[in-house]
Amino acid sequence: MKLIISNHKMNFTLEEIKIYVEQLETVQSKNNLLVFCPSFLYLPYFKGKNYSLGSQNVASQKMGALTGEVSVEQLKSSGVSYVIIGHSERRNLLKEDKDSIQKKISLCLENEITPILCIGEQLEEKNQKEKVLQEEIDSAFQEGQALDEIIIAYEPIWSIGTGIIPSKEDITSTFEWIKSYVKETYHANCKVIYGGSVNEENIRLLNQIQIIDGYLLGGASLEIEKLREIIKVVEG
Ligand code: PEP
Repeated sequence: MKLIISNHKMNFTLEEIKIYVEQLETVQSKNNLLVFCPSFLYLPYFKGKNYSLGSQNVASQKMGALTGEVSVEQLKSSGVSYVIIGHSERRNLLKEDKDSIQKKISLCLENEITPILCIGEQLEEKNQKEKVLQEEIDSAFQEGQALDEIIIAYEPIWSIGTGIIPSKEDITSTFEWIKSYVKETYHANCKVIYGGSVNEENIRLLNQIQIIDGYLLGGASLEIEKLREIIKVVEG
């Protein structure tokens, strides 16, 4: 079973999301776990269906006076079971720092919500990729937590939205490195998924890489036909 996680980012109007959810009724998956992360506003439209619900962010505090934020308890009571944390857009454009990423992960784990920790290197960091990934893992993981529950999304930042993906060999060696680093350092067996320009064409190549536990989709998840094709290929 592979995870196929759709991150809608800040897309769709209310009318568009209603149509999307309706079309989703025709999308089936036998062996995979589908997770949808729409805008907070649209979470209720995705509830009670044959897939799981995720959120694109969570507040770094439990509750209280934090205008515009959404708490882990609010998410949980809305049926959310996955939260994307530390997406590169939030790290780079919205200045999300390591401290708040760590707090968000703790809050999710305490509330039995699965954190999806995004890590990845910039184009100019390609030759020090392992150092970047190690820092992102170390600043998010804390000993004594249920670290096996964390899903790591490896997303090379230069691949997001560009149509360019790393080679099969590159992905394989990066995944091997992440899995063994997490195992040796934290004694954790985390699922590792790939994100960055996954589409209905390159999914054939990506799906040959056994070590990938699933995919985080951005652009391709916005179009039902592309999503359907991706699920079909992953289904085998
Ligand atoms: C992402 O932003 O996490 C992502 C994977 O986007 P895209 O698929 O559009 O590259």
